[in-house]
Amino acid sequence: MSNDISCPRRALISGITGQDGSYLAEFLIKQGYQVHGIVRRTSLFNTDRIDHIYQDPHENNPQVFLHYGDMTDGTGLRRILHKVRPDEIYNLAAQSHVKVSFDQPEYTADTVATGTLRLLEAVRDYMDETGSVVRIYQAGSSEMFGSSLPPQSEVTPFHPRSPYAVSKVAAYWYAVNYREAYGMYIANGILFNHESPRRGETFVTRKITRAATRIKLGLQQKIYLGNLASRRDWGYAGDFVEAMWLMLQQEKPDDYVVATGEAHSVEEFLEAVFAILELNWREYVEIDARYFRPAEVDFLLGDPVKVRNVLGWKPRVNFDDLVRMMVESDLELARQEKTLRDAGHRIVSRGMAIG
Ligand code: NAP
Ligand code: GDP
Repeated sequence: MSNDISCPRRALISGITGQDGSYLAEFLIKQGYQVHGIVRRTSLFNTDRIDHIYQDPHENNPQVFLHYGDMTDGTGLRRILHKVRPDEIYNLAAQSHVKVSFDQPEYTADTVATGTLRLLEAVRDYMDETGSVVRIYQAGSSEMFGSSLPPQSEVTPFHPRSPYAVSKVAAYWYAVNYREAYGMYIANGILFNHESPRRGETFVTRKITRAATRIKLGLQQKIYLGNLASRRDWGYAGDFVEAMWLMLQQEKPDDYVVATGEAHSVEEFLEAVFAILELNWREYVEIDARYFRPAEVDFLLGDPVKVRNVLGWKPRVNFDDLVRMMVESDLELARQEKTLRDAGHRIVSRGMAIG
């Protein structure tokens, strides 16, 4: 850790442009950190979620710095480490979509599993060379539990059901191994599903709130979904990122399940969304086989006793608040789309067919 109190602590976030990365960056800025983020190169800008906190580096006293890098490029990761000299690293970067991982298993393993290994190796060498101490948060997932029966806790065996989940299990064990072998400070968070208005639009919650609000305003007629019976323990991403930070403030590194302790089915999520909009979901939902997975995870329900007792963390936003927050935000987005459409602009519903 930086000893000089005039020097802010430096956090490095891989995946800063993602849902969690954006909330975590906001939170760390409030805690007084200088925040550095790894951004992968894309042909279009991919910084929508963090544009509101990013300042041009030419301006005075910026708090957020972005660095081009990729989890598939170890050399670049090493260079970033030496440049940033972070006190804390949050490894959030991932091909994070379960269904996509069946289509791109090798790439998923490369970013999620081997990418984590590349980062751990880079940090190990960096600490040896500089004598610095770096604390690492590793983003694990409830998907690692897969078909293990609920409620799932830190002692529940893993039984992953997708290339994504298998890769997360590998990353989890790399983290444990580097902790045991080299005494590195690495905490695994095993986070259950967490959502927000910034959730990717091909995850089921956001896919539903986007579609339902567009249906409400006459911009779309139907929504096509897969398995409505699966159950998830859905929380709010803004709450969950605080648990990541708390894990790195403990004397010793450990692993924690982060969850609300309450589960709902996809059908219940649909019910709740369409009820707010005063619509009957059954009139708009079609089942499409392409959205079923080759192997499903039926029931995830976290046991959050440890995170509550040891870290003092509990969620502030409950299921109903989360649904309402997402519906209100997407209704506003749909209103903006409608205004554009009514003004003669062509509105494209992007990527809805994929996830
Ligand atoms: P997300 O919105 O999909 O964000 C993933 C981030 O990783 C994005 O910034 C993405 O960049 C970046 N990324 C993808 N491939 C990369 C690569 N090869 N090199 C560098 N960066 C890359 O995911 P999230 O919901 O914020 O989740 C954060 C982490 O927690 C992920 O590891 C996810 O698997 C894990 N997790 C999420 C949940 C959940 O419910 N949200 C639950 C448990 C675990 P682009 O913006 O350019 O795509
Ligand atoms: P996951 O828990 O990380 O796989 O998060 P998702 O939001 O992608 O999926 C949650 C659950 O919703 C899974 O059991 C999916 O099979 C189910 N689901 C049903 N229809 C869809 C769909 O159209 N898209 C997605 N992404 N999931 C769907």
